Amino acid sequence: MTFNTKSNMSRRAFLASTVAGTTMIALHPFSARAGANQAHLRIMETTDLHVHVFPYDYYADKPRDSVGLARTASLIKDIRNEATNSMLIDNGDFLQGNPMGDYIAYERGMKDGDMHPVIEAMNAVGFDASTLGNHEFNYGLDFLMKSLAGANFPVVSSNIATEMASNARDDKTLLPPYVIMDKTLTDGSGASHAIKIGLIGFVPPQIMNWDRRHLEGNVMTRDIVATARAYVPEMKEAGADIIIALCHSGIAESATEEGLENASLQLAMVDGIDAILSGHHHLVFPGPKYDGIKGVDTAKGTLHGKPAAMGGFWGSHLGVVDLMLENSGGEWKIVTHASEARPISKRNEDRSTTALVESQQYVLDAVAQEHAETLEYIRRAVGKTATPLHSYFALVADDPSVQIVSIAQKWYISEMMKGTEYEGLPILSAAAPFKAGGRGGPEYYTDVPVGDVAIKNVADLYLYPNTARAVKINGAQLKGWLERSAGMFNQVEVGKADQVLLNPKFPSYNFDVMDGVTYEIDLSQPSRFDTKGGDLNPDASRIVNLMYEGKPVTDDMEFIIATNNYRASGGGSFPGAKGDTIVFRGPDTNRDVIVRYIVEQGTINPKADANWHFKSLPDTTVLFDTGPKAQDYIDDVQGVTIEPAGDGPEGFARFRISL
Ligand code: MN
Ligand code: MG
Repeated sequence: MTFNTKSNMSRRAFLASTVAGTTMIALHPFSARAGANQAHLRIMETTDLHVHVFPYDYYADKPRDSVGLARTASLIKDIRNEATNSMLIDNGDFLQGNPMGDYIAYERGMKDGDMHPVIEAMNAVGFDASTLGNHEFNYGLDFLMKSLAGANFPVVSSNIATEMASNARDDKTLLPPYVIMDKTLTDGSGASHAIKIGLIGFVPPQIMNWDRRHLEGNVMTRDIVATARAYVPEMKEAGADIIIALCHSGIAESATEEGLENASLQLAMVDGIDAILSGHHHLVFPGPKYDGIKGVDTAKGTLHGKPAAMGGFWGSHLGVVDLMLENSGGEWKIVTHASEARPISKRNEDRSTTALVESQQYVLDAVAQEHAETLEYIRRAVGKTATPLHSYFALVADDPSVQIVSIAQKWYISEMMKGTEYEGLPILSAAAPFKAGGRGGPEYYTDVPVGDVAIKNVADLYLYPNTARAVKINGAQLKGWLERSAGMFNQVEVGKADQVLLNPKFPSYNFDVMDGVTYEIDLSQPSRFDTKGGDLNPDASRIVNLMYEGKPVTDDMEFIIATNNYRASGGGSFPGAKGDTIVFRGPDTNRDVIVRYIVEQGTINPKADANWHFKSLPDTTVLFDTGPKAQDYIDDVQGVTIEPAGDGPEGFARFRISL
């Protein structure tokens, strides 16, 4: 059965319409066939691909079913087979975000005439158009323009100007602000109709802060909604029948204020825009994450009544906006519409994933060479370390594996605070050991010897795909933050030998070390917080001699803390990090920040600076279990008196610390 000529019904809608009572019927008004003068147009969207073409996790160096344009291309093929009229749009953030992107930018480079692999893959799949995301600027304008030169589809972006005029319409823009495409639609009776489809692109104006070093003096940005109000009438004057916004910006409830980062919902209120392709959030629309926002209808898939979609990230989903268009007297209007986001994989109850589609071989073939080169890249050195990066002692002393994360975070946040109201405040950096034995076993430690550092090692230093954040807190909150961390340890009795140091119920990722201040932890005191961050002994204090630049930290001092989205938004329930102190939401992952830092420095030397240690307690010793390879590094540990104490359980080695 073919759906192409007899009916505009999609295969899924047809199946759903035969099963009475399923919600698919409500979601798919396209079970009705298009009549004469009616045409069904399916707009497909990928967004935030971040160079994911192969279904592969280059950090872990193994295949991954939940990512890759080669997989999304199977969904695209299905829709092209079943739809009479379709278009394929990418919504930006394609050029950066995995080691293949870093390989091209940092190693292979983009000379004139070079083809960027993600562009090559997009050309192969056959996109009608794209817009720019904020990450397109991470490697600089020259790299971007050379990459775009290979695209055989238009890339539009309306709110980035190289010369700004008093009105957006008179700006000299970096790229064409919009394109009006002459398309031919086949209607329900098989007749052809000409239609002009306008596509206009938007990027978060915050790129000026996020990539200041590349952009300042070269381009300027405008507010998304204001730019739309300027150009949409011009597109109408130029004959656009339907206007689709390619909005690399998320969906959030807020007043229409100048410079919104996530403006898709506000953009939907602009007259003349018919549908919104959204992105940037790495979420799915329609989807439950956006329930309860005023103006958003996740059942109908609309923003202020206009159809919209967001296709996840890394190729995880294909956003689909179905429009039933009707031509009366030469004017096109949308009579019904529907939205969905189709996944390429599903997550099972045991957290494993199952692929729902296969890769399209022609997409894999298009970048096979670069994939092989990327594999080689992640497995070889991108920099060097002059210090062994290990985490064997990360829970008992200042540690190089945590120090490198802190240093890179502080380097990044310092740059991001420039030109803001927070510039000049002391910047501290919070980082925790992610791989520190425990339930992971005696081999579950970071251990990178002196010498080469590979991309795979960076994944080891920073396990989670967190994004960078800065919070602004006071001295009292800083002390509370460290009291929360100090719950890692059991309370010890002064004068007693061989007490067990670590509380096994306390996960190491909640042991934040604060770099940029000095402090001691008094283990003779009870923990202020329980392992979940609840009050245990509200008046207790383990943190003593907390100093900034050699002076005691007072309750009203102000600090910027470089951290991650998990902590800043309340993960672990840390004082000062409950979501209400965030002053900067970085678009970059902490892992990317570390990679960039290493690539820029060439050789890193993150020697622990012993800025914290246990308070000395007379005649008191504790026992600490860690990986047996810790023995190799025992002489390097600063600020703690430690000696081997035989074997621990289950392959761990035991050490004794004299407090
Ligand atoms: Mn993105
Ligand atoms: Mg330190």
